[in-house]
Amino acid sequence: MYKKDTIAAISTAVGEGGIGIVRVSGSKAIATVDKIFKSYQQENKKLSEVNTYTAHYGHIVDPETEQVVDEVISLVMKAPKTYTKEDVVEINCHGGVVPLQKILDLVLDVGARLAEPGEFTKRAFLNGRIDLSQAEAIMDVITSKTEAGLEVAMDQLEGGLSNQIDSISQKILELLAHLEASIDFPEDEIEDFDPEELEKRVVEILEEIEDLIATSKKGRIVREGIQTAIIGKPNVGKSSLLNALLRENRAIVTEVPGTTRDVIEEVININGIPLKIIDTAGIREAKNEVEKIGIKKSQKFLERADLVLLVLDAHCGLTAEDKKIIDLAKGKDTIIVVNKTDLEPKLDIEELKEELNMKSIVETSATEGIGINELEEIISEMVFGGQIKSTDQTLITNLRHKEALENAYDNMKKVKETVERDLPADFVTIDLKAALEKLGKITGDTVDEDIIDRIFADFCLGK
Ligand code: GDP
Repeated sequence: MYKKDTIAAISTAVGEGGIGIVRVSGSKAIATVDKIFKSYQQENKKLSEVNTYTAHYGHIVDPETEQVVDEVISLVMKAPKTYTKEDVVEINCHGGVVPLQKILDLVLDVGARLAEPGEFTKRAFLNGRIDLSQAEAIMDVITSKTEAGLEVAMDQLEGGLSNQIDSISQKILELLAHLEASIDFPEDEIEDFDPEELEKRVVEILEEIEDLIATSKKGRIVREGIQTAIIGKPNVGKSSLLNALLRENRAIVTEVPGTTRDVIEEVININGIPLKIIDTAGIREAKNEVEKIGIKKSQKFLERADLVLLVLDAHCGLTAEDKKIIDLAKGKDTIIVVNKTDLEPKLDIEELKEELNMKSIVETSATEGIGINELEEIISEMVFGGQIKSTDQTLITNLRHKEALENAYDNMKKVKETVERDLPADFVTIDLKAALEKLGKITGDTVDEDIIDRIFADFCLGK
C-alpha cells in the first residue's frame, strides 16, 4: 500500500564526508523542515514560500532547546518535478555521523516518519515517474563495478529496456486487438488475418524476445562480474599473479557477508569486465606452506568459478599435482598461466599447448610484470570475444527480467502452435494476453504488490 505520509532518511553513505544529505519527501516535507530551519540572510524566511529548485543557506536549530545543530543548505524541490514526484527537501549538512543523525532525529521529531529501505524510489515508481525496470536500474547504477556496468545500468535507467518491452507489447496488443475485434464483431467484416501474416508477426515477436534473452549472459557478467578462481599447486605464483593484476587495475574491495564468516571479495576491472576473485583473502593471506592452496582447496574454489586461471610454474616443470589440477578444471573456461618465465624454463610451452589442446595459454612473470597485459587480453577475449566496451545494445542484467521474458517466450510459442494448428482465434488471444502479462512484470504494470515490496526492500536506507 502506498502511504502518503512524509518520510525522511539519511541519503548519503554512513561515515565521514564533506557533506551529507538528509532527504525529506511528502506533502508536508517543506513545512516539516521549516520547523527546524533558520535562514541565515532573512530571519523569517519560510521555505514554504520559496521557489522550486532553490537553495537556502542557514542553520538547523533544535526547536526545543534553540541550540544550533549544524550549518546547512536546504534544497527545496516542489512536486511534481522531483525524484519522488512529491515535495522534496534535501538538507545538505556536514557529512558526519552525528550531525546527520541529529538532523534526521529532529526531522522525525517534528513530524516525518523514517523511510523504509528504497521508499523514495518506490514512490517514484508508484507515482509513475519511472517504471519498475528503471527503479531497479537505479540500484544497478549505484552498485556498478565497472564503466561498462554503469553504461548498461544507465541505458536501463533512461528507459532502454522499457522501450524495447513496450515495443514488443505494442506488437502483441495490435494482434490482440485485431483478433478480438474479429471475435466480437464477426458480422462487421473485419478482415481476418491471413494465417501466414499472423504467423509471420508471431515469429517476429518470438525473435525479438529471443534476442533480448540472448543478451542476459553478457548482461549478468557486466552487472555482477565473473566468478574467477586462481588455482594451482603451492608456490606457482598465484598470489603474486593476483597482486600483479591488482596493481594494474583499479580494484574494488567489498565485504560479502557469508553464512559462516565474512569473505573479502575483490573485484578487478579487466577491460570493463569485473573479475570477482573467489576467496582472495585466503589466497593472499596463506603464509605458511601447509596453508597454501593445494588440490583440495582448488577443488572448492572451482565449484563456484565461471572462469579459471590455472597457474603453472615454468621453472619447475609439469608435475603430477599440476596434471591433477588441470583435470579438475576440465569443463570450465580455463586460461593456463605459465608463470615464472623469467627463470630458466623446465617446461616446454609448445609441447604443453599440444598436450592440453588449449588455445588459452599465456606466459607470465608475475614478479617482473611480464605477460600481464596479454593475460588481460585473453580474459576479455574469452569472456566476450573481446568486445565488451561500449555496448550500444540493451542488455538483460536482471534474473527477474530474464525469467519474465522466458515465460513470455513460452506463451508466444503456444500462440505459434495454435496458429499453426489453425485453432479458433480465442485460443490465440488467451496466450497473447498471458505473454503481455509476463512482459508487464518487467515494467511493473502487472506485477504483484509483494514482489514490488521485495524489490524495494533490497534497496538501502535513504534510496
Ligand atoms: P602461491 O603459493 O601460488 O600463491 O605463490 P606465491 O605467489 O606466494 O609465490 C611463491 C614464490 O614464487 C614467491 O617467493 C614469489 O616471489 C615467487 N614468484 C612468484 N611469481 C614469480 C615469477 O614470475 N618469477 C619468479 N622468479 N618468482 C616468482
